[in-house]
Amino acid sequence: MKAHKFSPESLMMSHGYKPELSEGAIKCPIFQTSTFVFKTAEEGKAFFELAYGLREKDPKEELGLIYSRINNPNLEILENRLCLWDNAEDCAVFESGMSAISTVLLEFLKSGDLLVYSNPVYGGTDHFINHFLPSIGVSVLGIQPNQTADEVKDLIENSGKAENLAMLYLETPANPTNDLIDIEAFANLAKHYSTAERKVLTAVDNTYMGPLWQHPLKHGADLVLYSATKYIGGHSDLIAGAVLGNQEVMTRVKVLRTFLGNMISPNTAWLLLRSLETLKVRMDQQTKGAQEVAEFLKNHPKLESVNYLGLLSKDSEQYKIYKKQCSAPGAMITINVKGGEKQAFELLNNLKLMKLAVSLGGTESLAQHPMTMTHAGVCPEQREKMNVTDKTVRLSIGVEDAKDLIWDLEQALEKVSKVEKVLSHS
Ligand SMILES: *Cc1c(COP(=O)(O)O)cnc(C)c1O
Repeated sequence: MKAHKFSPESLMMSHGYKPELSEGAIKCPIFQTSTFVFKTAEEGKAFFELAYGLREKDPKEELGLIYSRINNPNLEILENRLCLWDNAEDCAVFESGMSAISTVLLEFLKSGDLLVYSNPVYGGTDHFINHFLPSIGVSVLGIQPNQTADEVKDLIENSGKAENLAMLYLETPANPTNDLIDIEAFANLAKHYSTAERKVLTAVDNTYMGPLWQHPLKHGADLVLYSATKYIGGHSDLIAGAVLGNQEVMTRVKVLRTFLGNMISPNTAWLLLRSLETLKVRMDQQTKGAQEVAEFLKNHPKLESVNYLGLLSKDSEQYKIYKKQCSAPGAMITINVKGGEKQAFELLNNLKLMKLAVSLGGTESLAQHPMTMTHAGVCPEQREKMNVTDKTVRLSIGVEDAKDLIWDLEQALEKVSKVEKVLSHS
């Protein structure tokens, strides 16, 4: 037989876990423990030498279990399994997506540095970048949807801080608009500004697509970040985050995590191990359902537009990027109703199966109004530039039968009032 490499979905039940270390239990138990007993004092000494980087690791040596802020079997097995999807060297899991994001930004940005980031980004990320980072002396430069890497290069040159550029931070597809950014082109821009002494890093928040439908590391990114609360957790019952990348960057991320103490708990890690077993089937079903729902919404008379990656026109620039870096259109649909907040709220208030809630990527379909909810904190001028208005409603499609979701949207849209024809006063 030829050598065979198993797919990640085939390894989610077993990878990284040895039943013989846990009484033969087929499932990894929850290691609800704060600390681990050393066999000898010498062993404890050796573990700490490695954990604190006091000496190089012998090739065959593994870091032993010490204390659950540093390591824990649930946390480590979860990290090993997450590495498989993105083909990453290492992973660190956190107590939330925001703790993953803020830890990365704090580790790699110092006073005087320049951060370039894409708009729109997740509301919490937007706040951390625009309100916290400047307070520690980091300059930030936001770029607009559809600006190309060449245009951004001009912006960086004109900022007068090109030599201080430390990181490009991207979110693609962007929440809530589904705008795509060419990861490879921006990773090349980061390389252009890298020197022998200092590498400019490219970090991508892959929450909207990952870890199934887009793999930023493959396109040249150095760090990929997740709110594991979304697809990875997938059941709207936990908050967690993850960061992946090569050994060198991840060692730095993990050291800061040890001292910020924002690692995931054994219990949440265990829930995520369970979620990972069905990740592929859930996400496959979600994107299949989303395509059907989007096709239904596409020409609906009460709607002005439908933004879904599965409806991109084949001759657009966005479609080229989509084909290059995404393997499926995902399960996030953003629609603009005809009218305004009144009509958008009528739609939301009349849904019977879909729930009116923020968050995304879970088994149940959710609907929300970005302008007054998830993106209420974004400055109005910026919100307008990214085309998030009072007409915008964001849908996250779950695993339900698409027929039922279509029925639900159809009956709710029926109740949305017609826009009265405004007579022009010219
Ligand atoms: C939800 C979300 C986050 C924040 O994650 P939490 O787990 O809520 O801390 C970051 N980025 C994106 C794109 C998100 O959707």
